[in-house]
Amino acid sequence: MQRNENGQVVISCDFCGTDWDQVRPMIEGHRGSVICLDCVKQAIADESAPPSQYSCTMCIRDQLPTKLKQWEPSPRPPAANPTAIICHDCLQQASQAFHRDNDVPWSKPQ
Ligand SMILES: [Zn+2]
Ligand SMILES: [Zn+2]
Repeated sequence: MQRNENGQVVISCDFCGTDWDQVRPMIEGHRGSVICLDCVKQAIADESAPPSQYSCTMCIRDQLPTKLKQWEPSPRPPAANPTAIICHDCLQQASQAFHRDNDVPWSKPQ
């Protein structure tokens, strides 16, 4: 997410609401959506089949089928985007990007 604070654009993770500090690894999706590495790790561990069709915040596709797993934080932190959901495809993409980034000391679980 992006917000304006005292004339400065502040970027924060849609899923946990943490502000970007220029250090924390984060990945941008469509329309200013952002997910941080900590949320990607949690999403990999906790993604599940959704009860109904859904929209993904990162790729902005909607009516995604229930066979495509999703993740949303539960409970959702107060500072997070109240409708943030990441689909399995975006989660794969984000985890690949973190995995390949030499500045990020993390490997995608096999
Ligand atoms: Zn996060
Ligand atoms: Zn997606």
